[in-house]
Amino acid sequence: MIADESSTPGRVVLVGAGPGAADLLTLRAARAVAAADVVVHDGLVGADVMAMVPAGARLVSVAKRRDRHTMQQADIGALLVAEAQAGHMVVRLKGGDPFIFGRGGEEVEACNAAGVSVEVIPGVSSALGAAAAAHMPLTHRDHASIVSFVAGECRGLADQNWVGLAGKGRTLVIYMGVTGSERIAEKLMGDGLAPDTPIAIVERATLPDMRVLRSLLADLGGTVARAAVKSPALIIVGDVATLGTDAVTQIAKAQPCPVN
Ligand code: SAH
Repeated sequence: MIADESSTPGRVVLVGAGPGAADLLTLRAARAVAAADVVVHDGLVGADVMAMVPAGARLVSVAKRRDRHTMQQADIGALLVAEAQAGHMVVRLKGGDPFIFGRGGEEVEACNAAGVSVEVIPGVSSALGAAAAAHMPLTHRDHASIVSFVAGECRGLADQNWVGLAGKGRTLVIYMGVTGSERIAEKLMGDGLAPDTPIAIVERATLPDMRVLRSLLADLGGTVARAAVKSPALIIVGDVATLGTDAVTQIAKAQPCPVN
């Protein structure tokens, strides 16, 4: 649908695209994608989700890589604002949930600062997708009643205070931790966490080639190296990491979402 620039003000919708499988989009997200004039998307958005973008919509990739930022965050905000001010319905499609390590907050601020209407549609964050797909509950009355999400990026890792987030009765989910896994294990053990604390790595959660690897904290870096784990993957630390299944055969091929 092409906006009538004389009467329809443009707007921005931040859409959580979930962890990969297209049928994990919310109905609201699927409807927003179906109505988009312009779709600004990350690298993490799965191919099946991208296939839901209407043929007439313009696609703009702002995929980030650890070593190469194709577009600075401020430029992404400016792009969203400019497209909306041109009268377009702009869908900003983000992996997982826009407000969990998704920089959605900064994009909402950019829209508000420019007086552009903005809506946020939540998505299934990868921690929740991974837990469900691997049958690994993040809380469980016998194992954990506290769950924390942290960013394990190498940059700034030393400055982060994770004390008390992992250990007995607690689950720690580490996003963006694959590259720094060795240092993450050292950091947690340095904070007093037992080397034999269970860990799990869930790679490509909810996708047909998802892998679940289990080990102990002291062997986190070794497991990542031996199994050649690649991003995107989550590290889950705590007793719940012993639960669930390693089988991935139950993951159905994603079905197109009903949008009406
Ligand atoms: N907003 C996203 C997170 C973006 S940060 C969300 O809510 O999930 C990027 C990190 O998310 C990756 O480094 C990885 O740790 C995690 N991630 C995203 N998709 C994933 C998937 N399908 N499987 C495992 N981890 C995933």
